Amino acid sequence: MIIAIDGPAASGKSTIARKVAKKLNYRYVSTGAMYRAITYRSHKEKVDVYDEKALARIAQKYSVTFVKKNSEQRVMIDGEDVTDYLYTPKVDSMVSFVARSVAVREQLVKQQRSLSKAGDVVMEGRDIGTVVLENADVKIFLTASAKERARRRTKELESRGHYCSEERLIRELVNRDKIDSTRKVSPLTKACGAFSIDTTGKTIEEVVDLIMQIINESSASAKAK
Ligand code: C5P
Repeated sequence: MIIAIDGPAASGKSTIARKVAKKLNYRYVSTGAMYRAITYRSHKEKVDVYDEKALARIAQKYSVTFVKKNSEQRVMIDGEDVTDYLYTPKVDSMVSFVARSVAVREQLVKQQRSLSKAGDVVMEGRDIGTVVLENADVKIFLTASAKERARRRTKELESRGHYCSEERLIRELVNRDKIDSTRKVSPLTKACGAFSIDTTGKTIEEVVDLIMQIINESSASAKAK
C-alpha cells in the first residue's frame, strides 16, 4: 500500500509516519528532509533564496538520498551526510522560501515518485496526497494547535542542543505555514478523501493506533471489492 501523510509544521508527521512505517515494515520517506537538504546545500553555496536560477541549478545537480546507518535513516546530498544539519534554526528559517521554487519542487517530486515506485511506503510532507502520490491508498492530514506544535518543536530542538523561546517558535511556525499554504505551486492543503486527525492532546501512540485502524479498514474494504 501507499500511505500519504500531510500536515503543517511540527504536527507530529515525522514521528508518527516513522512509527506507522515500522509497524507495517514499509519504507519511510520524509520529503521535508529532502527540501531541507536542498536548503542546507543552497546555504552552503551562498545561494539567495529568491534566485530561482541558482536554486534550479542546485536541485538539478544534486539528488537527495536516504541510507541506513546503524539502523538509523541518514540523509545524503552529494555524498555528504547532512542529517545533523537539517533541523537547525537557519534551515528552519530558509526552507519554506526554497520550497516555493518550481524547479526545486519538480526535481524533488520526481525523486519522491521514484522512491515510491516499489510500493509499501509511508511518505510524509505537505503535498503528498494532493500532488506527489495522488493515487495513494490511504491519505491522512494531521493538525495540532500552534501552541502544542511549538511545545513539541521546543522539545525537539532542545534534544538537538538548540534553544528558542516558545513565543518565537509559534511566530516562526505560523509564518512557515502561511508561506507553505499560500504559495502558488502545491500549497499545503488537505487532499480530497484524506482523513483529518487533530493530534492536540493525543499521545503519539493514540495517533499511530488511529492511523493503523484507518489503514486496516481501507485494506479490508479494498480486498472485499
Ligand atoms: O516537514 P518539515 O517541517 O521538515 O518540512 C520543512 C519544509 O519543507 C516545509 O515547511 C515546507 O516548506 C517544505 N516542504 C514542502 N513540501 C513537502 C515537504 C516539505 O514544501 N512535501
